[in-house]
Amino acid sequence: MQKIMLIGKPNVGKSSLFNRLAKERLAITSDISGTTRDTNRKIVDINGKKAILVDSGGLDDKDELFQNVKKNTLKEAKDADIIVYMVDCKLGANDDDRAYFYDLLKLKKPTALVINKVDSKKDEERSLEFTRFGFKNIFNISVSHATGIDELNDFLSSHLRDTFVPDNSELSLEDFLDENIAGEYDEEGINEVSEIDENHIKISILGRVNVGKSSLLNALVNDERCVVSSIAGTTIDPVNESIEYNGKTLEFVDTAGIRRRSKILGIEKYALNRTEKMLENSQIALLVLDAAEGFNELDERIAGLLGKNYLGVIIVLNKWDLCGKSDKEFDEVCKHLRLDRFKFLAYAPIISVSALSKKRIKNLLDLILKVHSNYIQKIQTSKLNQIIEEACLAHPLPHDKGKLVKIYYATQYSVAPPKIALVMNRPKALHFSYKRYLQNVLRKHYDLSGVPLIIAARKKGEKELIEE
Ligand code: GDP
Repeated sequence: MQKIMLIGKPNVGKSSLFNRLAKERLAITSDISGTTRDTNRKIVDINGKKAILVDSGGLDDKDELFQNVKKNTLKEAKDADIIVYMVDCKLGANDDDRAYFYDLLKLKKPTALVINKVDSKKDEERSLEFTRFGFKNIFNISVSHATGIDELNDFLSSHLRDTFVPDNSELSLEDFLDENIAGEYDEEGINEVSEIDENHIKISILGRVNVGKSSLLNALVNDERCVVSSIAGTTIDPVNESIEYNGKTLEFVDTAGIRRRSKILGIEKYALNRTEKMLENSQIALLVLDAAEGFNELDERIAGLLGKNYLGVIIVLNKWDLCGKSDKEFDEVCKHLRLDRFKFLAYAPIISVSALSKKRIKNLLDLILKVHSNYIQKIQTSKLNQIIEEACLAHPLPHDKGKLVKIYYATQYSVAPPKIALVMNRPKALHFSYKRYLQNVLRKHYDLSGVPLIIAARKKGEKELIEE
């Protein structure tokens, strides 16, 4: 597993960042076997990729042992895959930090300069001082205000290898490459690879207490005359409720949790674990927000669970009847949600509904069908390669240390959601911003509304696979 090392002077906020990155993982799963027990090392999950996070401890320049500590940390850093050097914005840039940072840069590892405690506009101005370091990967964050963490996570994950977790419904990339494209790839791509029941859609409804989840479930289920099944169980067993809609079965997952438990416990640790299970068993998630009351940090935390499970997502603004807002105002709310609150769910369509008056509940059902059909779509390999080739011609891949970076070909290796492999000569050199560019290009060619699009870079497996 790759190693991320946090380095910086005491009190700059290293352990807060450490806890924040580590806690996200811990909050989601109680199963932490395999996690080392040391307090300064944890397995973390960064945008769905696993890594070992190491807190190097303090680098106290007042300490007479400073030089030794520095040397040791430097030695340890040689072993790391990614280095995060942290400074305190409020203390300003100093020569010690700069000298040490330059020593670290000599290791030629992906490195981030993280400026913490950027809590205000004034701090932002102050942070400009650090541009003197002449370094481009600078991240302004505030651990306590939870800002800037997403950008840092994106940077980290762009340098982490994908940790593939194949399940029964999909082949791992390696298997797929071995079995399907030895020498040449199948023109029809993935078509025969994944067997999924296209007529059965599993949906989870999530959101904090009182946003109207159970009212929404009632509206979705009761509107339809034919409730197919309501599998009974105790309060502890998950209860799924299904309806037939336009020839498809829509199964709402773990509705017992929605109807009862969420009211009692809220999103506490137990509920989070349960939510995680629910998401694992779903393809589509409805993220319910209270449009009348507004959005808060808890909404964001709940939304954060979605990205990790690669689900199709629809953002449902409930209680629209209480808002009295016009279409134009709706657009503004959407903009706020996309730009400020849920940047990482930018692909999710937003719909305003009223569970109470049942306004636009039918539209929501139609939207579920649409997102699901996007979610399971199969992308023809030849067309995919043509699009990627054109995108690379329009914006050539940046060189890596003077060497040409090449994508030999692309192929979809999994559906639901679509996952695309780029088989390359230097997969590590694929920068996340380039990946994002390709994602945007593909989103222009295919309707992927509501659907995450995963792009994985891979080194060529077998020699004969590559036609240079
Ligand atoms: P849950 O905790 O997310 O399951 O929320 P509930 O479904 O229990 O709803 C919480 C409260 O909001 C209840 O008093 C509902 O009647 C009310 N509510 C839910 N949806 C709407 C809506 O669309 N409009 C209005 N005005 N009230 C709603």
